[in-house]
Amino acid sequence: LADRLQSTLQKLKGKGKVNEADVKEMMREVRLALLEADVNFKVVKDFVKRVSERAVGQDVLKSLTPGQQVIKVVQEELTALMGGEQSKIAVAPKAPTVIMMVGLQGAGKTTTTGKLANLLRKKYNRNPLLVAADIYRPAAIKQLETLGKQLSMSVFSLGDQVSPVEIAKQAIAHAKEEHHDYVLIDTAGRLHVDENLMEELEQIKELSNPDEIFLVVDAMTGQDAVNVADSFNKQLGLTGVVLTKLDGDTRGGAALSIRAVTDTPIKFVGLGEKMDAIEAFHPERMASRILGMGDVLTLIEKAQANVDAEKAKELEAKLRTQSFTFDDFLDQLAQVRQMGPLDELIGMLPGANKVKGLKNLQVDEKQINHVEAIIRSMTKAEKTNPEIINASRRKRIAKGSGRSVQEVNRLLKQFEDMKKMMKQMTNMSKGKKKGMKLP
Ligand code: GDP
Ligand code: MG
Repeated sequence: LADRLQSTLQKLKGKGKVNEADVKEMMREVRLALLEADVNFKVVKDFVKRVSERAVGQDVLKSLTPGQQVIKVVQEELTALMGGEQSKIAVAPKAPTVIMMVGLQGAGKTTTTGKLANLLRKKYNRNPLLVAADIYRPAAIKQLETLGKQLSMSVFSLGDQVSPVEIAKQAIAHAKEEHHDYVLIDTAGRLHVDENLMEELEQIKELSNPDEIFLVVDAMTGQDAVNVADSFNKQLGLTGVVLTKLDGDTRGGAALSIRAVTDTPIKFVGLGEKMDAIEAFHPERMASRILGMGDVLTLIEKAQANVDAEKAKELEAKLRTQSFTFDDFLDQLAQVRQMGPLDELIGMLPGANKVKGLKNLQVDEKQINHVEAIIRSMTKAEKTNPEIINASRRKRIAKGSGRSVQEVNRLLKQFEDMKKMMKQMTNMSKGKKKGMKLP
């Protein structure tokens, strides 16, 4: 998809204004992107209409190409559609605050109950009580107890012979006695929404008068998630949604549909099985994810804010005349550094979320340090005219920088290759510029 969007963007380059046909073409791609990401059909339709209206005839910002501009509108609208960041958890005027966790079997209710309790304690200094009210799934009580032990938190359970309604009732009384300020009720799920389940949940709700009812939804379930969210919301009146398993490679279109259909905010996302793998929901990150392009715009904005325009011009001139030196190279490294930690930057690139193992990125940062050390060990003459760097100079530079001669050799070779490549690139873009008609 990214490729498809890219090629459409390519066509829009060099245009002063985005016209209706351009937008139409872009919107076709965006529409496909959304449908591919499992966004509800009706939601997509309304959405595309709104964006089209906004995008047609927009003046083109100086800093963005028209294509990027349209994408920006798309992203802004997606973000708006998903609501602002809403990770606040209710506080009851009189303790304890009761949170009921609901959802289908396997969605991640029990895990999320543990994560939320952990968050409440760590971030808000609270003392939650976990309540094991899933008496149906084998070992469900044990699972919560294990999590409780792992977190050193109290778990309330009465085994699987007492009704969930009774468990909830006694748990709240117990919480008052023991001065727990939050009660998190981990309820049972079913494979599908059914009458019995809903009835039981309604009874628990009636009795425990919860301040929050969080629906836990597996992000991988796509379209199904919307129907599930809709039924739970109609029956119980949800106050928030937690979208789990976003660490998988789902595009997360469910987030958009759920929000649009139930008008319930997504409050948190689950990003793994560990107890700290929970985050506040960020609508703009989700928008990028749905579009499948990483935080591309953030990256563009960051780059534009940091790369000095003047410097960039100078550099371009140097590249053209082939007078690019190691000093310029150092300058460039410094500019890249200014944009922020490398791993953060790389994380914003499309597809980067698929690259596992941040260790490799750290090595990259280290390598930049090494490169810098080597360049700083060169004399002025060497930096300007690298061709004078013979074997004995190489040895001296290696010694001075604390790197090996092989590394020095490698850098010199890379620098030459880079210059060659840049020469080709500048030739290419010159040719392109000539052939392109600007309005
Ligand atoms: P429940 O039936 O709704 O209580 O679901 P569980 O809490 O038992 O979770 C079902 C499975 O999903 C377990 O293996 C969890 O470890 C896993 N799980 C829950 N949340 C996440 C998440 O955010 N990411 C990943 N990768 N796995 C999760
Ligand atoms: Mg469970």
